Amino acid sequence: MLYGSTRGGSFDVTALEAILRGIAPDGGLYVPENIPDLSGLKGESFLQTARQILAALFPEFALQAEAMAGKAYAGHFSHPDITPLVPVGDSHVLELFHGPTAAFKDVALCALPLMMNAARERTGDTDEILILTATSGDTGSAALAGFREVSGIRILVFYPEDGVSPVQKAQMVTMAGKNLKVCGVRGNFDDAQTGVKEVFASYQPPEGLALSSANSINIGRLVPQMTYYFTAYAALVRQGAIQSGDQVNFVVPTGNFGDILAGYLAKKAGLPVGKLVCAANANDVLKDFIQTGLYDRRRALRQTLSPSMDILVSSNLERLLYFVSHDPAFIAGCMEQLRTQGFYQVPKEYMEQIRETFLTGACSDGEGLDAIEKVWQRHHYLMDPHTAAAWKVKEELEQSGRLPGANVVLSTASPFKFPGAMAKALGLALNDDASAAEILGQRLGLPVPQSLTGLQAKPVLHQDVIDPRDMLAYVQNKAVGSW
Ligand SMILES: *Cc1c(COP(=O)(O)O)cnc(C)c1O
Repeated sequence: MLYGSTRGGSFDVTALEAILRGIAPDGGLYVPENIPDLSGLKGESFLQTARQILAALFPEFALQAEAMAGKAYAGHFSHPDITPLVPVGDSHVLELFHGPTAAFKDVALCALPLMMNAARERTGDTDEILILTATSGDTGSAALAGFREVSGIRILVFYPEDGVSPVQKAQMVTMAGKNLKVCGVRGNFDDAQTGVKEVFASYQPPEGLALSSANSINIGRLVPQMTYYFTAYAALVRQGAIQSGDQVNFVVPTGNFGDILAGYLAKKAGLPVGKLVCAANANDVLKDFIQTGLYDRRRALRQTLSPSMDILVSSNLERLLYFVSHDPAFIAGCMEQLRTQGFYQVPKEYMEQIRETFLTGACSDGEGLDAIEKVWQRHHYLMDPHTAAAWKVKEELEQSGRLPGANVVLSTASPFKFPGAMAKALGLALNDDASAAEILGQRLGLPVPQSLTGLQAKPVLHQDVIDPRDMLAYVQNKAVGSW
């Protein structure tokens, strides 16, 4: 199985190279030449399913996949099912946040460092790897935790100064490790992400050093995320909510379009997925796109209570455009127009294909807070603001009859990462600082993920904060010498 760029047209790169490089030299994203048929997967155990998916999409790892899945997941998640499916009212919530940093990104970032290291060994590549990552809050700590003490790899995380919660920030700036660096950027997530993309485009690393990415532009991030679509489906069958073969809808709080694209890959691989619902917050570029075919980033980014969805340029949409068009020149044109003019228009025939699978909706902060409060009152279940956005969109679509059948809402973060929003929703007085998660847990009588406790007592190890225009110089400076 070979990989090629969404903007290139030829499939001449192995999975190993695609994972090591992160992004294709022409700026496109790597996609597999075909999607294997995984309709026979039972999806019963998370580790077995992860092994089968890794081996099918990355055949070079077939022999190591079992060990990799074990090393990535066994013992690192606080729930025995890894990603448990929990009934809430008439729906089901797929809890993806039981990993080391309490966000769904752990599912991919527990596996990616292992894959990168194995890829280095297999290719005989001795270059040191410098991972550059922009984070909207959760990728940062998940990537830092995943790459900590991995030899031959260093990681530099840029986070937007205005745009992560105090708990998220504390998680990152207190993370210890000889190969880790964290730097604030004065601006929002798009400023940080654009800055990282520019470094990739213009920075020539010194001999012996290669750049790579831990963002979901890396195909090694997306593939492990297919696993929980399969295990969730199997759990629904087991719980008697559906018969094997029935279609299931998945409602996904969406930012960079990576999580939902993994669901699309699962569907293409044969899982009976009905609709994939792209839930947005007030930054509803994707909702407008799915409804109109016009992708238009010419608007101000709004800061919301669901910061991981505060994104105007959703990188992985480029992969969806590839799967519906198979036209690299068309995609290259769209991406160039997006860069220079801030928008592109997708023809009707492609949009019809997209709308066969994708539904969409948006949720304001106020609506999200209402959903949190209502679900807490009715079901004693606490949702984080991202999950709440998906919940609200699910209800809206159900009420208008557009979402028949069984629904799974993906829960992408522990509510304790966002104690400020929880306090607001439930009408509690709480100081939103690094200790807020623990205090909220005590007040509500709920357990708090271990990684979110004791943060206020930890020393701050990373204090750098820079302007977006200084990111390239910062990388040039830090790339050489020890940390
Ligand atoms: C990253 C993130 C999302 C968005 O996922 P994408 O793959 O970027 O669409 C949603 N919720 C939370 C909590 C996240 O951390």
